[in-house]
Amino acid sequence: MSDLSRYFDVNATTPMSAVSRSAWLDANERFWQNPSSLYREAGMAKQELEVCREEVADRLGLDEPERVIFTSGATEANNAMIRYVAATREGKLLMSSIEHPCVEAAVLAMFGDERTEEVAVDPGSGVIDVDRVRKLLERGGIAAVSVMAANNETGTLQPWEELAALAHEFEVPFHSDAAQWIGKLPAAKLGTCDFLTGSAHKFGGGKGIGFMVIPEDAEDFHSLIGGPQEDGRRAGTENLPAVMAMVAALEECEDGLLRDVSSKGRDAFEARMKNEGMSIVGEAGPRLWNTSMLILPHTKNLKWLIRLSQRGFSVSTGSACSAGRGNPSRVMTAMGLDFDEMSRVMRFSGGTNSSEKDWLSLADALSDVEAELRQ
Ligand code: PLP
Repeated sequence: MSDLSRYFDVNATTPMSAVSRSAWLDANERFWQNPSSLYREAGMAKQELEVCREEVADRLGLDEPERVIFTSGATEANNAMIRYVAATREGKLLMSSIEHPCVEAAVLAMFGDERTEEVAVDPGSGVIDVDRVRKLLERGGIAAVSVMAANNETGTLQPWEELAALAHEFEVPFHSDAAQWIGKLPAAKLGTCDFLTGSAHKFGGGKGIGFMVIPEDAEDFHSLIGGPQEDGRRAGTENLPAVMAMVAALEECEDGLLRDVSSKGRDAFEARMKNEGMSIVGEAGPRLWNTSMLILPHTKNLKWLIRLSQRGFSVSTGSACSAGRGNPSRVMTAMGLDFDEMSRVMRFSGGTNSSEKDWLSLADALSDVEAELRQ
C-alpha cells in the first residue's frame, strides 16, 4: 500500500484496504461462478451473496436483509431511489440545499422545479432547518424527504435520526445518502431510514460497488431492468467478489477502525490554520472528525493545490464531482460564501490512519505555500 501520510482526500475516495483486497482475491478464486446459474458451485456463490446481504443488514440494524440491494455505488442508488419515488408517489421531493449532485440532479430531472422543495441549511453550522421541514410536512403534499447523513465537502452531520422520526410522524418515507457517514461513524442506526445509500470506495471497500436499502413494501422497485438478479430489482450479473470485498471493509471499520477515531489531529490542524488567519467552513456545527474545509487567504485554490501536490499532499478544491468544472459550488453557496471566497476554499479529509503528526505536516506545508504565494 502506498504511503497515505499525505493523503487528505479521503472524502473523494480511499484505497482498497488489505482485508478488503484479500477478500476480493479470495472471492475471485472461490466464487467466480455466476450466482444465478443452477449448478452446485453457482449455488454456493449465491449463498455467499445472501450471507453478505445479511451482514450488511445486520450492521445497519435491519431485520430484513431482503431490503438490501447491491448496486454499483451511491450514484446509481440515489438515482434509482428518486426515480422510484417520482413514479410511485404524489407530491414534492423535499431535500436539503447541500445534497450531492447525484441526488440534486436526479431530483430536478425526475421531479422538476415544481415538484422540488429545497430546505436551506444554516450557513454557520451547515445543518438543515428542521423546523422548516416540519412546517412543510404539516402543510402536506410531500412525496419523500431526502437528507444526506454527512456532507462530502464540509463534513457537516445532519440530524437524520430526528428527520427520519419526523417524516414517519407524517407517514412520509425518509431517504438518507450515507455515502460519507458509513465507514467514518457507526452505521448501526441507519436502518431506521426507509431508503438508504452507501458506497464501498468511501470506506476502503473498492470502487464500483455499493448498496441501498429500500422499504419492505417497495415491491415493484428496480434500479436496472432486464434480468432477475437481486430479486428482479437490479438486473445485471452480481459482482460477488466486489460485494465480499465491500462487506469485509465494512466489518473492518465497524469492528475496529471506528473505535479509535478522533478529531484530535484535525482539530490541531485547524487551530494552527486559524492562528494564521484562515477560517473554517461550517465550524459552528457538528462535523465528521476527518474533514476540514478552509477558506485560504489571497490566492485561488488551484494554485495552492498545485503547490501542495508538488510537496506530495493530495487535497481537494471541493467535491471531486464538481471540482473540475469551475462552477460555483451549491454547497458553498448554501454555506453563505461569496464568489471570491468560493475560489479560495480547500477541503482536507484524512483517514483513520492519519496521525496528528500527519495533520501538522500538512499545516507546515500550508504555511510554506502561504508564504510563497504571498510574495
Ligand atoms: N453521495 C455522496 C455524499 C458522495 O460523497 C458521493 C461521492 O463523492 C456520492 C454520493 C457518489 O458515490 P459513488 O462514487 O459511489 O457513485
